[in-house]
Amino acid sequence: MILVFGVLSIVSINRLKNNADQVLKNNYETLVYNNNMLEALNKLPADTGAWRVFEDNLRQQEANVTEQGEGQATAELRKGFDNYKLKPGDSLSHNTILKNIQIINELNQQAILQKNEMVKNAAETANTWLTLIFTVLALIAFTLVVNFPSVIGGPIQSLSEGISAIAGKDYKKRIHLKQKDEFGDLANAFNTMAEKLDEYEHSNLAKIKFEKSRIETIINKMNEAIIGFDEKRNILFMNAVAESLLNLKEKEVAGKYAADIALKNDLMRRLLQNGDEDELKIYADNKESYFSKEKIVMKNENQIIGEVIVLQNITPFHELDEAKTNFIATISHELKTPISSILMSAKLLDDERVGMINEEQKGLVQHIKEDSERLLKITGELLNLTQVESGKIQLAFQPVMPKEILRYAIDANKTQADQQKQTIEIRIGPSVEAVNADKEKTSWVLTNLIANAIRYSFEDSKIIVSIEQKDKTVVFSVQDFGKGIDSNYKDKIFDRYFRVPGNKEEGTGLGLAICREFIEAQGGKIWVESDYGDGSKFSFWLPVA
Ligand code: ADP
Repeated sequence: MILVFGVLSIVSINRLKNNADQVLKNNYETLVYNNNMLEALNKLPADTGAWRVFEDNLRQQEANVTEQGEGQATAELRKGFDNYKLKPGDSLSHNTILKNIQIINELNQQAILQKNEMVKNAAETANTWLTLIFTVLALIAFTLVVNFPSVIGGPIQSLSEGISAIAGKDYKKRIHLKQKDEFGDLANAFNTMAEKLDEYEHSNLAKIKFEKSRIETIINKMNEAIIGFDEKRNILFMNAVAESLLNLKEKEVAGKYAADIALKNDLMRRLLQNGDEDELKIYADNKESYFSKEKIVMKNENQIIGEVIVLQNITPFHELDEAKTNFIATISHELKTPISSILMSAKLLDDERVGMINEEQKGLVQHIKEDSERLLKITGELLNLTQVESGKIQLAFQPVMPKEILRYAIDANKTQADQQKQTIEIRIGPSVEAVNADKEKTSWVLTNLIANAIRYSFEDSKIIVSIEQKDKTVVFSVQDFGKGIDSNYKDKIFDRYFRVPGNKEEGTGLGLAICREFIEAQGGKIWVESDYGDGSKFSFWLPVA
């Protein structure tokens, strides 16, 4: 619009300027020449310089003939001037000159008036046109200004409403524009996007819901009690088993802070305690039940997002274990008496007072004795083990002099040591006090340690058994110079049924395990020091009485 208006204005102004120029050039200049000629005529013929001036102006006038009749008048003027030059002061020529100058003047003045009129008309026409064009343009501009918001602002507003709806997860939102321009395209693209989002949302949600219900079903069908917490220890979920164990309802506690629930719920408190109590004794199913507790930390890309506690009911295993222990106890107990009587009979057979037997028979009797002793040892160990396993170690505490225990243990091993040609050296520290102990069990331990020392060292070697008081404890030690114990196994030899691999001696792997249980039950401690190849030293201490 600005361009159109500008071009039109320049064209009009140029036209006006041309007209003015023409007036100036064609007519105004003629008037100037005429004026100059008149002035020069007044000074003629006296002033000789005036001839020149007249001649120059006349020549210029002759070159500037523009109006009708002007050429003729100029020619007349020339003729008059030429005559006047021939007859200076001739009044006829003088008049001709004057008359023609006047004619020329009039012609030009009229032309000026005429052209002025023309310019005026042209200016008026231009004015009209420009006003008209200006009005049209102004109207167009005004229409645009008035309609702009609805033409451009309308679609933009619908679009921004649509985007807000999508941001608010209203994927059902669509934009309806009838335009076929860029806004129309934009609206179509928006609708496609919303449709896709809607589809995605629905498929995802359905999938997640499906997965969730599947996992919930699995969790609920599990035999274990399962409780989930978020990273702030708020309860997330618990399955049916957990509900009945804790006597809580998932609906009521979900989202609550577990520590608050623990204030009124004993089991929850025990579950939250950090000490990893592997086994929990819980009253469930109308009886004492055992549960193993396992904590699983939930992580998402290295960030802890919660914790799941799984309680597995291990009561059946406990019951089986108990049954096994009872079975072993019964069997060992039942076997002990007949084996003892076999041993007794074998000893009687060996006695010459009962009757003479030949060498071969003696050897057989000796075998019977050894085997019975071994059987008796095994049944004894098994009986002790059943006490340990049932957690019912019966202790008869009394102040015992360590020397008594020592004597008993050495007597019990004497024959064996003699057979192996081993010497037992006894070292007793100064002023050893009585210990507070179960005499029989402690003797059993020391006997066992000396028996091991004999079994696991070589013939002709020495075994040192010592007693020594250290502060308020008495330390018993059995040192041998056998092959010792590989450092890999030092911690394991006190475990039940553990035997160092490659060990060719007969045994059950129970002796040291029972020793440890017996000593610890009495408030003492047992340990081993050993350099592989240089023998070992087993020690334990008990508190003084
Ligand atoms: P058992 O002697 O019946 O195998 P123990 O519990 O008494 O069971 O001993 C466990 C294991 O420790 C033995 O099998 C043996 O390998 C090792 N051990 C015990 N005492 C000694 C010892 N004095 N020297 C070397 N090894 C020993």
